[in-house]
Amino acid sequence: MEHFSFDKIINEWSKERILEIYSQTTEEDVLDALKKERINIRDLIALLSPTAQKHLEKIAQKAHQITRLHFGRTISIYAPLYLSNHCASDCIYCFFSSHSGLREKRVTLNYEQIQEECKTLSNKGIQTVLLLTGDAPKIVPIEYIAKAVEIAKNYFSSIGLEIYAMDEEQYALMTNKGVEGVTLYMETYDKDTYDKVHLSGKKKDYFYRLHALERAGKAGIRKLTCGVLLGLSDWRCDLVWLALHASYLQKICWKSTVALSFPRLKHTPPRFKPPYPVNLQEFVQIIVSMRLFLPYSPFNLSTREPAEVRDNLIPLGITSMSAGSSTRPGGYKVYKETQDSQDKPVLMQFEIDDTRSVEEVVEAIKNKNYDPVWVDFDPGTLTISK
Ligand code: SF4
Repeated sequence: MEHFSFDKIINEWSKERILEIYSQTTEEDVLDALKKERINIRDLIALLSPTAQKHLEKIAQKAHQITRLHFGRTISIYAPLYLSNHCASDCIYCFFSSHSGLREKRVTLNYEQIQEECKTLSNKGIQTVLLLTGDAPKIVPIEYIAKAVEIAKNYFSSIGLEIYAMDEEQYALMTNKGVEGVTLYMETYDKDTYDKVHLSGKKKDYFYRLHALERAGKAGIRKLTCGVLLGLSDWRCDLVWLALHASYLQKICWKSTVALSFPRLKHTPPRFKPPYPVNLQEFVQIIVSMRLFLPYSPFNLSTREPAEVRDNLIPLGITSMSAGSSTRPGGYKVYKETQDSQDKPVLMQFEIDDTRSVEEVVEAIKNKNYDPVWVDFDPGTLTISK
């Protein structure tokens, strides 16, 4: 496994080493970091430290300037489309987990249903879609995903996948099918915590997951989105590892864009309570500090966050937002009615906190004097340049 050099980097940045740097951080370190044009990993630690909290306003102003410089006044819009809620892995924090104990309906959309969902979402104006499944390659095999991508291509300009980790050849197949992006959160880089919260299934393999985005980049996937599940582990360490991973991917997969998402764990199944909850001030600190470290990376914010939080974060580093989302397979059309009827509802992955429609989110973006962007990359341009 040593041919993946990120293993070496993560070994060099042990938890003990990171915590020691945090414990020695002074106010001067924070102010020094704020004076720099480009910050390094030690500066990032200073900005993420508790000491930096009283300078949050200054960090936020700088994050705002950097984001405006590189992204202008734009926010890209996308929507998730769940294909299946079957899962063979047991991740303790997830509603889809095979042992979550939840009794709602498990479904995998057939091709006709996928088409109906795509049509409904596309009629709302969505042009960038993220196809999602659980970790169930037997029920939802690669061939099914490939077919789903083919169907989605008839409705959307840009397709991303947030599914189980795959081999490089399988990612290459997805690239050939026209997939633009792969989203794959490490959840936590802390191996001890990772082992404790991933009880069984393929996802339990820490290193297979750790190297997945690198395999995807090498297989030609143009946009790689990484993230940690905030609340699962000591976020001040996880954010440092995430920053190291993102810059590593930028170097190794230089043809790809490396983006970040900031999923904050709030709603969880009854058997699990997030041990490291992230409050709003800390959440803002994370996003604005990461913006200073990764000035060119797209930052996504999903409907896990309430409307007010999302609207207020628009000028501070976020460049892409989901809208009008459902976290259930069939949630836009096929099984929409079952949510309000006597029927057994279809299991959703997590509750969403921003329940506004696509139009309402677009309106909110415009009210902030930003322009919604429906698609920020047209795969057709690749054909033209050939
Ligand atoms: S996080 Fe993914 S792999 Fe884990 S239980 Fe949920 S859907 Fe399955």
